[in-house]
Amino acid sequence: MTGIGVIGCGTVGATLVAALAARHEQFAEPGELVLVDRPEGRWRGRAYQRDTEAVLANGPMIGMSLYLGDPEHGVRWAEAKGLAVHPDEQGVHRFLSRPVYGDYLEDGVEEALDTLRAAGWRIRSVEETATAVERDGDGVVIRYAGGSVRVDHAVLCVGGRADDDAYGLRGTPGYIDDPYPLREALADVPEDAEIAVIGSGMIATDVLMALRAFGHQGRVTLASRSGLLPSVRRKAARVLPSVLTAERLAALPRPVRLADIAALAREEVETAGGDFAAIAADIMDPAPAEERLRRQLDEGLSDDIGTQLLQRAVIEIGQDLWLALEEGDKEQVLRSLHSRLWSFASPIPRSTAAKLVELCDEKRLRVRAGIETVERDGDGFLVRYEDGEHDRADLVVNAVTSVYRPEPPSAGGLLGLARTSGVLADHPHGGIRVDERSGRALDTAGQSDDRLFVLGELTRGAYYFVSAVAAFTRRADEIAATLAALPAPAARDAVPAAG
Ligand SMILES: Cc1cc2nc3c(=O)[nH]c(=O)nc-3n(C[C@H](O)[C@H](O)[C@H](O)COP(=O)(O)OP(=O)(O)OC[C@H]3O[C@@H](n4cnc5c(N)ncnc54)[C@H](O)[C@@H]3O)c2cc1C
Repeated sequence: MTGIGVIGCGTVGATLVAALAARHEQFAEPGELVLVDRPEGRWRGRAYQRDTEAVLANGPMIGMSLYLGDPEHGVRWAEAKGLAVHPDEQGVHRFLSRPVYGDYLEDGVEEALDTLRAAGWRIRSVEETATAVERDGDGVVIRYAGGSVRVDHAVLCVGGRADDDAYGLRGTPGYIDDPYPLREALADVPEDAEIAVIGSGMIATDVLMALRAFGHQGRVTLASRSGLLPSVRRKAARVLPSVLTAERLAALPRPVRLADIAALAREEVETAGGDFAAIAADIMDPAPAEERLRRQLDEGLSDDIGTQLLQRAVIEIGQDLWLALEEGDKEQVLRSLHSRLWSFASPIPRSTAAKLVELCDEKRLRVRAGIETVERDGDGFLVRYEDGEHDRADLVVNAVTSVYRPEPPSAGGLLGLARTSGVLADHPHGGIRVDERSGRALDTAGQSDDRLFVLGELTRGAYYFVSAVAAFTRRADEIAATLAALPAPAARDAVPAAG
């Protein structure tokens, strides 16, 4: 019986379990699935934990199915629960709250585990954090405080996002280092507190939506390097890119340059009658945040589909574009284009954008670029900007989503040990090195085999676009397909080794 260890049971782990269930008939014989993670919040991970319903999923349910081959799976789940997930009569997308999407993840994994059990698979749960992963002959040993387990294959799904303590404020009174769960982290914020949020991306908008729902009345300043808010999701449209496709990409000479991609993007938009110059200007030379937010909200229901085509293309072939891109251009993306691309590619719901505009109208929200330092100052904090100006705040909330973010502390020990022993190696563009065609981990000698795989945000250096459910399901399916195609190992159960 093949033993497969899933290390990390968050959203990404959920996509792997679903992918294994979808392909179970392709395995030579039923296997044993060993699920290793602490028991709290399994399958929801950080993004979809039980928390305030004021925060919404940013993607429509049709794009967030657990199953690559069944995009309607999540929609059917929502319909069975009586939840509205189809666009309204104006074409405005509807979104589930993130905790409710977490319910889908829990139910979806339960369904997948039932499928595997019914097919004869054994499911075993180790309710602990893994402390080490070691190669052992033709298997992998996963260690945890209470013992260890040996499996034939392991997939690392430990997440990859930890918020950076960019200004060394961790432990300072009045500094909220991790805003999740929001209803706990922000529970004691006084109604009239003047707040500085470090960051202006997804996490910052979550903080704003939560503060608003909890009755905060004071002013909030989003202070970041870029001063960019996420863009506003446009009207629902059935779009299918015809230029930014895998086929056209395959025909381009290697390595692909950013200019090549821009040329395809222009052709894509202009073929659909759109204004590429306007879209490009909005990405590369964005107006100040509030002005851009208002304009995008005003324009969001127009019939122009250029933006949606490009956003769709990012989902469809974003990872392939990254894989083909010239190395120097990758550096350029990471160094200077990341915030702009991310703002464009990960839009927030219109309803969230409308609430941000309300906060601006009430003079309770400002977005400022060029943050330089944040320091403790008397009873509060001083936020300094590159232009010499500064803000005072009573409280500071950390909502940094830097491309160079560190690894999550829960996985730090495990990854550190695996690096030291040469089992895993750092990717030059961040995260862990993998064989890009298969997700197999590469060791420090650049070798891979079928024992250890990496899935999710730890593969950001390899694939770059690794922060959306749709990106995870594709890679999870590839790993499941690889595992299913391997010959069954010599009869050997995944037995616990000595602790
Ligand atoms: C605020 C926010 C909003 C988002 N909104 C959307 C959206 O609307 N649509 C979308 O498609 N994507 C969205 N995303 C992106 C994406 O869905 C998430 O990043 C995704 O949840 C990542 O899942 P994960 O499993 O990699 O990480 P996590 O959710 O962090 O889960 C990692 C798991 O690994 C476990 N773990 C860590 N270390 C160990 C260890 N040593 N041993 C065992 N287990 C370990 C943890 O306990 C945890 O359960 C959002 C992300 C964020 C942060």
